[in-house]
Amino acid sequence: MTLHLPTLFLLDIYMLTLLGGLMLHAWRRSKSEATLGCMAGTLLLAALGALVVGLRGMGVDTLSILLGNMLLQLASGVGWAAMRVFVGRRLCWPGVAAGALLWGLLGLWPYFMSSVSLRVTVSTLLTVLYTTLTAWELWRVRRQLEVAIAPALALLLVHALFCAGLLLVSRGPAIERMWDGLDHGFLTWRLLETFLFAISIAFVILAMVRERAELRYRAAAERDPLTNIGNRRAFTGNAEARLARCVAEGRPAALLLCDLDYFKQLNDSHGHATGDAALVAFGRLLALGIRQQDVCGRIGGEEFACLLPAADEAVALQVAERIRQACSELLLEPEVRVSVSIGVASTEQAGYDLSRLLALADQALYRAKAGGRDRVECFAG
Ligand code: GH3
Ligand code: MG
Ligand code: MG
Repeated sequence: MTLHLPTLFLLDIYMLTLLGGLMLHAWRRSKSEATLGCMAGTLLLAALGALVVGLRGMGVDTLSILLGNMLLQLASGVGWAAMRVFVGRRLCWPGVAAGALLWGLLGLWPYFMSSVSLRVTVSTLLTVLYTTLTAWELWRVRRQLEVAIAPALALLLVHALFCAGLLLVSRGPAIERMWDGLDHGFLTWRLLETFLFAISIAFVILAMVRERAELRYRAAAERDPLTNIGNRRAFTGNAEARLARCVAEGRPAALLLCDLDYFKQLNDSHGHATGDAALVAFGRLLALGIRQQDVCGRIGGEEFACLLPAADEAVALQVAERIRQACSELLLEPEVRVSVSIGVASTEQAGYDLSRLLALADQALYRAKAGGRDRVECFAG
């Protein structure tokens, strides 16, 4: 295949600059995503590096070779840093700069500067090393990441394999002659692959960052920031889904409505912070005290609800009593305690409609309050 080298250089530089600008813009809009900032740095450094390397033959050869390749290695290092930032690891500046520094040092060695194949070999090996490290960062946390990483991993591995393979199949003399216009094979393929790789990896990383941000926003929108358990919206959605499954499986379910007692008084006499601490402690107690298939949430100021799938009224009363007991044992401050009243309703009386279950549990809760608080009552039709 014959492609016009200067055109390829221009295309690469244009595309890298454009993508770098796009990343910079995306980063400015969401400053918390440092990965985008690093990716902008990688792409813009690579564009600058390609520009400087492309100046070869314009009377600045030594500078072009040395500075251009150092910039390209720095771009690879920053690309590795982008992935470290994405997976939540600290930046390793010596590692980021190592490739560029090695190039700078080797540039002091006259034989290195006179041998195209040695320079190409070193720069390709460094690229392969950085790309493999970048893929490794992603691979080592593959189970913890909530987004799909297969496309990025595949792209990085193909890039590393392509660069290594191209170096292996390109004969030394061919590489020696590539700048003289005698054999453009290696450089043509390298520039073409860089072009395609840069476009693909930029979009894949942008998609990964966006997908993760969206998942986090969605999770935050469903979480009560104080107690860190589900809020009313999450509780309603999850409880309705569980109830639908209970209907399909022909199992009962029960709902507990918990309301902390004399909470206004607790706030007034011990301060809002103590009230908050009570809410946090009760939320933790609920979250730890229920089974995995149960759903709990803070549905109001000091009101919490729990849906227990596959539990009849007798089981629900036992669970509620256990929660009441555990709450009465919470010690917020020396001598400061809190109690809870719990209303229980089950699908045996209310059917599988969540709002009806909540209404009946509320009636039971009212009876618990009227009966003196710190007690469990079930709906008595
Ligand atoms: P009862 O025993 O009948 O349930 O009385 P109560 O005082 O617990 O109920 P009431 O509805 O009169 O007061 C609830 C209080 O909960 C009033 C409100 O200031 C307080 N509250 C609501 N949300 C929060 C919160 O996030 N933090 C704190 N500290 N207090 C809250
Ligand atoms: Mg209340
Ligand atoms: Mg209350």
